[in-house]
Amino acid sequence: MRRQAGLQNTVAASVTLSGIGVHNGLGASLTLHPAEPDTGIVFLLTDERGREVEVPATHKNVCCTELCTRLGDANGTAVSTVEHLMAAISALAIDNLVIEVEGEEVPIMDGSAADFVNAIDQVGIVPQGAPRKFIKVLKPIRVEHGSAWGELTPADTTSFSIAIDFADETIGYQEVNFDLGADVFRDDISRARTFGFMRDVEALWSAGFALGASLENTVVVGDDRIVNPEGLRYEDEFVRHKALDAIGDLALAGAPILGCYRSLRGGHRLNVAMLKALFADPANWTVVEAPVQRAPKTAGRVEAETFAPAAAYGPEVS
Ligand SMILES: [Zn+2]
Repeated sequence: MRRQAGLQNTVAASVTLSGIGVHNGLGASLTLHPAEPDTGIVFLLTDERGREVEVPATHKNVCCTELCTRLGDANGTAVSTVEHLMAAISALAIDNLVIEVEGEEVPIMDGSAADFVNAIDQVGIVPQGAPRKFIKVLKPIRVEHGSAWGELTPADTTSFSIAIDFADETIGYQEVNFDLGADVFRDDISRARTFGFMRDVEALWSAGFALGASLENTVVVGDDRIVNPEGLRYEDEFVRHKALDAIGDLALAGAPILGCYRSLRGGHRLNVAMLKALFADPANWTVVEAPVQRAPKTAGRVEAETFAPAAAYGPEVS
């Protein structure tokens, strides 16, 4: 069934999540609100004087990629750690949302995207009366930072090939490859948690980072073992989390990307640099619209078919 494949989507009702910020350790909550077609994903923040500020979730508003991805406006009103939430929104094919945030961070929840997926499932997703738009990659683009690199190449689907290579034997070399769709994300990626090294914790804390990090929301790697008593959720949970981060960061393109993203030793900085490189030259990309297939307006899960081959897409617009 592809009854929702061509149409933009939003949530069927507002839904709130609460937790703590992994970096500041303070209480944080957010509410996902339905939004009109062509709104995109917009964060609704509160500035120092208590005024509401809208910050669209695009690479142009990324103000920091140190340890997490932070979005903000020119006046310094910002929200941190948007990547896991953005990954869930992107993988579930949601195009339009207003995300009201209380606090300066998206709550870390359990360190994965599972709670965001659950919250969206709780209210459901509804198709809207406008065609989905995709950013189609037209040329291969490569970014390198030392021994880390990323490549974005033309493809008819949204696919990821993410690899990491840590000297630490507990992690080592890991690789994951997949076409992005809601089912793949739910089953194979969404539950992968953020991770960190025990040896880095003190330095992070003294620098004012990771104040909310704990075994409740982080896989902690000790000298030769996983510190968390429950162990790992996937044998290669580390690279799956890196893939989750990449999905969330690439969602800041402003629309789903038709292309293959490959990276080795990547992270938020490289992912965002990839987007900057993509948009640096208008010859690198174009916007394509999905053909509109009128669908019954019923709430429910958008299935993996959402990411149908681009061959089915209609005329290109830009
Ligand atoms: Zn992450």
